[in-house]
Amino acid sequence: MSHESETGAAAWSALLEPLREHPAQAAILTDVDGTLAPIVERAEDATVLPGTREVLTALSQRYGLVGCVSGRQATDARQLVGLDSIAYAGNHGLELLLPGEEMPRPDPSLAGRERQAAEFLAGIDGRLDGSGLRTEDKGPIQALHWRGAADEAAAESRAHEIAIEGGQAGLEPRWGRKVLELRPVGGGGKDAAVASLLAGDGLDRAVYAGDDRTDLDAFRRLRELHEEGDLTAAVRVGVLSPEAPAELVEESDLTVGSPEGWLRVLEWLAE
Ligand SMILES: [Mg+2]
Repeated sequence: MSHESETGAAAWSALLEPLREHPAQAAILTDVDGTLAPIVERAEDATVLPGTREVLTALSQRYGLVGCVSGRQATDARQLVGLDSIAYAGNHGLELLLPGEEMPRPDPSLAGRERQAAEFLAGIDGRLDGSGLRTEDKGPIQALHWRGAADEAAAESRAHEIAIEGGQAGLEPRWGRKVLELRPVGGGGKDAAVASLLAGDGLDRAVYAGDDRTDLDAFRRLRELHEEGDLTAAVRVGVLSPEAPAELVEESDLTVGSPEGWLRVLEWLAE
């Protein structure tokens, strides 16, 4: 992704000034992997950038809401970010973990289908051997990763076959950066996560930053809330990378070239 597509500091400060002017009415929402934490070979090795906890803590003391929206389980996202004073929407919106709470609240629409994806994968278990796909059990969501496989292209094409079978078994396939996730149909989504986080009293402006395909759902919801008049300002920040979906640039109000770029924006919001 070329450096030229990054938005200049003057332009992003103009877009975000309404939030900084009225912080109590503003929500700062951010994806985690690829946005606060650089993508690494194995997701369990990810860490947020130095200074992230400090700036999020400062923001949470001034702004109406600070929340992370992640494909990770909510407790996993909280452990990675390392703060329990902010909100986490986990599993792409299927779980909500509020500040100070121990256990996430599951999306009620999942009831009775929590193990549907796990049972499907258990049924095809033997065929994953030698595929290069690495499974990750995220409760209602089951993930298949091919980052770092000996033959990533072959593993990805196997993932496409499994996605079709999963669809036939009543699951919804979602694609991310070198990962396929299988989940029960309906419910959740980063769009739903954003809507439930913004439902809090007195929030009428928001920024959301993300780097990947599922973040486009959050972008869309933010735009709708703005068009419907629930938000007076809605700023969508795309964190660019060579793996970013093509639509990310066109759906973003401003772009940064890396998680470091987003951290600079957060620091400016905290000033
Ligand atoms: Mg991400």
